[in-house]
Amino acid sequence: MQVSTMECKYCQKSCMKAGLAGNTIQRYYCRHCKRHQQEAYQYNGCKAYIENRIVELNNEGCGIRSISRVLHISPGKVLSSIKGVYKKQKNLKKAIVRGREYELDEMKTFIKRKKNKYWIVYAIDKLTREPIDFTIGKRSKKTLRRIVDTLVMAGAKKIYTDKLKLYTYIIPKELHVRSQYKINRIERKNLSIRTHLKRLSRRTICFSRSKEMLEASIGVYFGRNSCSFI
Ligand SMILES: [Zn+2]
Repeated sequence: MQVSTMECKYCQKSCMKAGLAGNTIQRYYCRHCKRHQQEAYQYNGCKAYIENRIVELNNEGCGIRSISRVLHISPGKVLSSIKGVYKKQKNLKKAIVRGREYELDEMKTFIKRKKNKYWIVYAIDKLTREPIDFTIGKRSKKTLRRIVDTLVMAGAKKIYTDKLKLYTYIIPKELHVRSQYKINRIERKNLSIRTHLKRLSRRTICFSRSKEMLEASIGVYFGRNSCSFI
């Protein structure tokens, strides 16, 4: 092996030639970070910008399979990239401002089959309209409680919900406002999410096959993690 001129993509030191790939393209090996690499990849899935493109398309109403067709990569790569981006987000905790008012709502969906009913429960800041936290779970008090706990811990001034009876059992009375009309912002947000995430659209054949993927897809859309403050 002779020393080549290519510099390592990960540590910028020089790489050694290391034989040919199946498609006869020269491979390189970095002795410092012990990684194989190529100068230019034929397969789009290995290109550096691909993760951003996948997230963009996910947030613009494309399903996993349509993303894979548009970018010429495998559906498996799309799935693993969305999960990967979501995982990386976990390290970026966003600060929560105390004493704010929140709108809280639940959105119905299902995983695998219609019978398998789930809620996506999430809260937005009434002022900035930014999503604060979300969770996915069976349609029960326990699922709602995860978000309520976050909001109470965040020192919420008021929590606005719809008339769902379950909320009255878990939100402290002095914080709770139950109204059909004061949660219009989050209702509007629900509509955006249903439009922008293919798996949550109505009247399509797209749906979630796993809870993990549903969580990652929404997390990437929100730029936040599920129950990141507990
Ligand atoms: Zn290296």
